[in-house]
Amino acid sequence: MAGKMSVIDIAEALIACPSVTPATGLVFDCLEGMLAPLGFTCHRFVEGEAPDGPVENMFAIRKGPAGTPHFAFAGHLDVVPPGDGWTSAPFAPERRGSGKAELLYGRGAVDMKGSIAAMVAAVADIPSEAGTLSFIITGDEEGPARYGTIALMDRMRELGEIPDLCLVGEPTSVNRLGDMMKIGRRGSLSVWLAVEGVQGHVAYPHLADNPCPKLVAMLAELDGLVLDEGTDWFQPSNLEITDIDVGNPTTNIIPAAARARVSIRFNDLHTGDGLVAMVTQIAQKHGGTARGIVSGEPFLTSPGAFSQVIASAVEAETGIVPEASTSGGTSDARFLKDFCPVIEFGLNNATMHKRDEAVATADLAALVRIYRRIAEAALATQAT
Ligand SMILES: [Zn+2]
Repeated sequence: MAGKMSVIDIAEALIACPSVTPATGLVFDCLEGMLAPLGFTCHRFVEGEAPDGPVENMFAIRKGPAGTPHFAFAGHLDVVPPGDGWTSAPFAPERRGSGKAELLYGRGAVDMKGSIAAMVAAVADIPSEAGTLSFIITGDEEGPARYGTIALMDRMRELGEIPDLCLVGEPTSVNRLGDMMKIGRRGSLSVWLAVEGVQGHVAYPHLADNPCPKLVAMLAELDGLVLDEGTDWFQPSNLEITDIDVGNPTTNIIPAAARARVSIRFNDLHTGDGLVAMVTQIAQKHGGTARGIVSGEPFLTSPGAFSQVIASAVEAETGIVPEASTSGGTSDARFLKDFCPVIEFGLNNATMHKRDEAVATADLAALVRIYRRIAEAALATQAT
């Protein structure tokens, strides 16, 4: 079936299945219905409970001859809520414009059902003798990712199917298709800071213990930190104060407690735990406490054979060489890096998460050709 479907047909079918995060059911039925006829065995399972679940995940694999390499495409079928003000219904795909200016509108058009459609259309033309191909598809990327790619990776370990290379199809292009790939991402963590004091009357400060000056001194020291100067591939790590909260409506009370929150985006010179320990030490020095949550460690796939495969494929189809970037937020590549080298490449990200999200249908067609080249070259590269 999918062999006869165009990438636009596939993208429209996926967009027509509402799948606000966390996603289950229909949209996975739709994808399985296209991959199974191409020879893929689809392992589907549902994890978790409300509010972060239930989440559906699918690992689909078509094995090549014994001993051939394994190339994986990874992505997500969940989407962010559409919000209001769309020109056409967000889950009723609609094409407007013509020729090179034709756009396909719908929630997920670029992030990232359009990209998954391009993966499906790309593998339809690759013979199974070329090697093992798989799809690592979660319904929980836009949410907390508790029951998503981590659970998928556990299932793949149980099955003994670990890829040699992995491409994540997040929308990485900025101004035109092909101008950027992501070879890494910074890590991310948040720290909740608190100073407990003793409440009292401002006229009798000796009877109270004001937490505010301690918190101010703590934040000043944290804000003044130089975490590093950056690396060849990463910008400097950065700490931002994101919240200061004393919650004191009066003018004559010394408050009992003061709280703040900082967010750190960090490169591969640090680990999340190491940074939490450092912030905790500073907090304690100023009489406070710290509680950190690491939402992602950094990853880097150093420029080399795999990034060259992607750059060559992109250049062959678009005429431009993608910049190798580590900018932006986190992605599921932060988990997949534990399996194998992983790089992200996909559509233009200008309309992602916005109303009237849209993809140029010409870009979809080009992305099919790029993904096919990448998969074929990755299988050939690993085979030698
Ligand atoms: Zn995405």
